[in-house]
Order: sequence, then structure tokens, then C-alpha cells
Amino acid sequence: MPTIFQKIIRREIPADIVFEDEHVIAFRDIAPQAPVHVLFVPKEDFATLNDVPGDRPEIVGRLAIAAAAYARAQGFAEDGYRIVMNCNGDGGQTVFQIHLHLLAGAPLGGFGA
Ligand code: C5P
Repeated sequence: MPTIFQKIIRREIPADIVFEDEHVIAFRDIAPQAPVHVLFVPKEDFATLNDVPGDRPEIVGRLAIAAAAYARAQGFAEDGYRIVMNCNGDGGQTVFQIHLHLLAGAPLGGFGA
């Protein structure tokens, strides 16, 4: 059963896509928690961070590098931003295709705020 994000990758449902390359797609979160809230998703399927093999660090690395590049291009590098990946229930994960949240555009407060 494909997740919503896998359907976005396949263009089966719409999304506001802001970046895409061979490995990663990024689109605006439909329920933004900051002025800028973009999700970076690998095109390869991994339900949670637990499912990424130890010999595939590039899966997560590409998300972080793409998020940093987007933040830099949008002018947030100096003021700063937050990247977050939720994992399973206690982590607050609701979509089971791994994704990195990029939050920017305002002071985000303390950890967990
Ligand atoms: O980390 P977590 O799994 O909770 O994040 C899922 C995110 O996906 C939420 O922030 C939610 O607003 C977002 N979402 C979305 N488009 C959808 C469904 C969920 O941007 N169609």
C-alpha cells in the first residue's frame, strides 16, 4: 500500500513541489508549523529511519544536504532553521515513508517548543 508521499512522488496526488532530483523530492507541508515548512523525501521507500540500512547513509545524508541547500537558496542560512525527522509513535511519525522536515522563517524556540 503506497503512502501519500509515494503517491506524490508518482504524481498520483498533487503537492507544491519545491525541489526534485534523481534521489529526493521536496514539497511544502500541507499543515505548516513555521513560515517555511518543507518535507524532503527519498524516492526510495523506507518506512522509518529504523529501516535504513547502516551501509546506506546517503539516504539520510541526501535529505539533509538538500534541505540545507534549499535553506541557503531561500536566504535562511544565516538566521538559521531546524531539520527534524520523526520516528514511529513516540517520535510523532504519521506518514511511514521517511522524510526530513525543514522549518524556517521565524525563531523556533527551544527544543520541543
Ligand atoms: O513526521 P510526520 O510523519 O508526523 O510528518 C508528516 C507530515 O506530512 C505532517 O507534517 C503533515 O502535515 C504532512 N502531510 C503533507 N501532505 C499530506 C499529508 C501529510 O504535507 N498529503
